[in-house]
Amino acid sequence: MSRTNGTATLEPIKTAPIAPASLRSTDQPRLFQRVREQMDRAAEAVGLAPEVRKILSSPACEVGVNFPVRMDDGRIEMFSGYRVQHNNVLGPFKGGIRYHPDVSLDEVRALAAWMTIKCALVDIPFGGGKGGVQVDPATLSRREVERMTRRFVYALGANIGPGYDVPAPDVGTDARTMAWIVDTYAATLPPQERYRALSVVTGKPVSAGGSVGREKATGQGVVDLIECWAQDQRCKVADLSYTVQGFGKVGSWAARILKDKGAKLLAAQDVTGAIRSYTAEGLDADALAEHVKTTGGVAGFPGAQAISREAFFEVQADVFVPAALENQVTGETARLLKVRLVAEGANGPTTSEGDIVLRERGIAVLPDVLCNAGGVIVSYFEWLQNRGGAAWSAAEVDQRLREILERAYARVKEMAADKSLGWRDAAYAVALRRIEQVYAERGIFP
Ligand code: GLU
Repeated sequence: MSRTNGTATLEPIKTAPIAPASLRSTDQPRLFQRVREQMDRAAEAVGLAPEVRKILSSPACEVGVNFPVRMDDGRIEMFSGYRVQHNNVLGPFKGGIRYHPDVSLDEVRALAAWMTIKCALVDIPFGGGKGGVQVDPATLSRREVERMTRRFVYALGANIGPGYDVPAPDVGTDARTMAWIVDTYAATLPPQERYRALSVVTGKPVSAGGSVGREKATGQGVVDLIECWAQDQRCKVADLSYTVQGFGKVGSWAARILKDKGAKLLAAQDVTGAIRSYTAEGLDADALAEHVKTTGGVAGFPGAQAISREAFFEVQADVFVPAALENQVTGETARLLKVRLVAEGANGPTTSEGDIVLRERGIAVLPDVLCNAGGVIVSYFEWLQNRGGAAWSAAEVDQRLREILERAYARVKEMAADKSLGWRDAAYAVALRRIEQVYAERGIFP
């Protein structure tokens, strides 16, 4: 069911035989293959219907577009973008759009599949999708990013839509990007239908139809789940210390909310470098977020010690929050960690080998599909508000988010105990069972 829109050529999906994770020679197989292996492992553990496994092993639809953008100096540049729609049996395809130089079809496929699992796990009526453009937005002017965004949306055409496929921010995109998407999408509709355009994306600025609480939502969810875990450990968040990798939308909010609860930020790392606190009191997460906003990264934060990337992984703390890109907790870095919990704010931060090492070392994991689901949950709230013409209060958003995450946490915990599974396998198992149930009820057309 692959289709191209424009001239991009899509690579066929390779169906390699699945080797047990421990026997693989490479630590970082293609990302979508890793997701399929993960789904297979969980499916095996709960005896999932084989046809459901088969359906989820390929995305339902893949759109690839090459499109021209006029740069500020008058030149025309070509850009490549993707939208992968993995599965929509639970509801419209849902997932962010990423601007990053390493974006590839394989990565977008994996990210789309993770959205399918994430939405099913937290039980919101969305499927999984993801988009991306291969570009480093930092090398473009603001106007160039705007023109690129608008041309990408125009090129995607009817492949996105409020009841069909609903993008959101991801790495390299933000609320402003979403506002341009609404505006461009609205311009493609007849005037009488433009009211529908608002819910074509979530993560918009609050003044342009966004939800309060969406900007911090992923970080808030990370903290809500760390609190669930702390409660099970009979300790208080105020007594925890933590380190954060990536100080963007997810990492900085998680760090700031943890700080408000009294936890201590001992170290942070991003592309610009790594820093640690000289004292047990920790770094001021709010001041660090300001520093990142003005300088572009954590490096050079006054009053902190510059350390190496390896030294960052070795900092002793209770919780490590990876909130950057994929493949950061590898077999190698997982051996360096001196923490009790890895709370995955990023998508796919842990490789298969990293996972094995964490398990062997008895380090607990709040897996990405659970831990960073706060973003898409509040996206769902935004979509509901847009469609109902409503505006919820910050307290209502926070409370409903927490309820959904607590329920999902409890479901994963129960599955892990029932089937003696690690939390990642358990989270996938809960999600797959939810999807299986719907296929069993609806059947397959014709
Ligand atoms: N990009 C975010 C994620 O990976 C949010 C997706 C959304 O809100 O649709 O979960």
